[in-house]
Amino acid sequence: MAMDIYGKNATAEVGRYFRNTVWWWRPLASFLTAAYPELTAGCTHWQSNDGDGLDENGALALADALDRDLANGRVTAHADQYATEIAALPDSDCDLCQGTGLRTDGIGRSRGMDKPRDRDTGKGGCNGCQGTGRRRHWDKNYSFDVENVREFAAFLRHSGGFEIC
Ligand SMILES: [Zn+2]
Repeated sequence: MAMDIYGKNATAEVGRYFRNTVWWWRPLASFLTAAYPELTAGCTHWQSNDGDGLDENGALALADALDRDLANGRVTAHADQYATEIAALPDSDCDLCQGTGLRTDGIGRSRGMDKPRDRDTGKGGCNGCQGTGRRRHWDKNYSFDVENVREFAAFLRHSGGFEIC
């Protein structure tokens, strides 16, 4: 799934369209609303594709703030902090096998996942965790980086206002 952001009255090609998967959009939108509560208040539904957005003045003001903070290191600091927090998230027990590495429900038994994984053939073991019993923390699917903010700022500046669809 992805979020499609459409410029309402683009003044350049870069302002016509911006796209992030949800894995990228969610952290970006969270950063924007937390760091710039006043500049982002004109849009209520940042995290869903309801066609909400900002008008041209709002988009320009947010672009100015982002360009300023891209230049002064604030965005980089957030990206570094984000990466540190994500890296520190613990793995969790696999919910398909309750952390045992062996999947004993009906599907698991019918497909031989209730037997330990064979190191040579790769067969057996829970398919949710490759038999390890552990799963990466869900939030590690989400990404945030400076370049994505830079691209969004360029889109904003030339969008003429935007809609999140
Ligand atoms: Zn498992």
